[in-house]
Amino acid sequence: LARLRGRLARSGSPLGARLLAVLSRDHLTEDDWDELEETLLLADVGAGPTSDLIEALRTRVRVEGLREPAQVRALLREQLLALVDPSLDRTLSTTPSTAADGSHVPAVVLVVGVNGTGKTTTVGKLARVLVAEDRTVLLGAADTFRAAAADQLQTWGSRVGVHTVRSDRDGADPAAVAFDAARQGRAEGVDVVLVDTAGRLQNKAGLMDELGKITRVLTREAPLAEVLLVLDATTGQNGLNQARVFGEVAGVTGIVLTKLDGTAKGGIVVAVQRELGVPVKLVGLGEGPDDLAPFDPEEFVDGILQ
Ligand code: GDP
Repeated sequence: LARLRGRLARSGSPLGARLLAVLSRDHLTEDDWDELEETLLLADVGAGPTSDLIEALRTRVRVEGLREPAQVRALLREQLLALVDPSLDRTLSTTPSTAADGSHVPAVVLVVGVNGTGKTTTVGKLARVLVAEDRTVLLGAADTFRAAAADQLQTWGSRVGVHTVRSDRDGADPAAVAFDAARQGRAEGVDVVLVDTAGRLQNKAGLMDELGKITRVLTREAPLAEVLLVLDATTGQNGLNQARVFGEVAGVTGIVLTKLDGTAKGGIVVAVQRELGVPVKLVGLGEGPDDLAPFDPEEFVDGILQ
């Protein structure tokens, strides 16, 4: 946790430093408020949430006659936390269930997102977390478009000690591979099946068809416990547009925000939660196997404001 806090602080502190520098001025002029607004916009908080926050902050500062930097800082913390919304349920559903006929049903987690955002890496890291919790895990390589993708997943699988279900040929039906993984997970009494998918956004209709089919076929074998959308925190508005498309197609239940270690634009958390109406559940903080953490709103905001 200390390590996580340190990393979030590193990624977020330029933002926090700018915010606090403005807020510690004796008398806040119109220019200062503009600067605050600009700072939040540059951090990808989004136009709506930013003006809400500035408005609320201005009102409280005026009405309560706040002057002390510590008071204003506490108020800013409160406002930022409200934007991130600590009331959202961020637990990951990874508990297997029992079918009507008494047979074992694994928790199936479908991982979607545009290529390059960090899907495969996230699946590998998540497998590692689950294995560390003594859960049995099976990976499904439903990105059949490139053989290298399945290889990469399998490499992660061997690294964390779990088996990968894949097809031997390029261009196999991804839904068939996903189905095989769920079926094998059922037969073997596996706790969690993590299914990696392809994310070629060039062809929205094709993507819709593919994900729709994977979802339909999978739910025949086991209900989907989670559909996690992986988003690269460094891609800003572009990432939001992607989120919108996947939100329409895939019935997303949670967001994984990757590469937070490489950006001061943590405000995307706020924007994407608003856009999709689902919480950020996990964050990626590096390329290594241990660089995945549950998203903790308080820690996140404190990281920004350090
Ligand atoms: P996919 O195409 O969506 O499956 O993406 P990959 O899992 O192959 O990841 C793409 C690149 O992003 C790889 O070089 C990863 O090591 C890197 N990556 C993934 N997650 C993170 C993260 O949280 N932080 C950083 N810095 N790099 C990441």
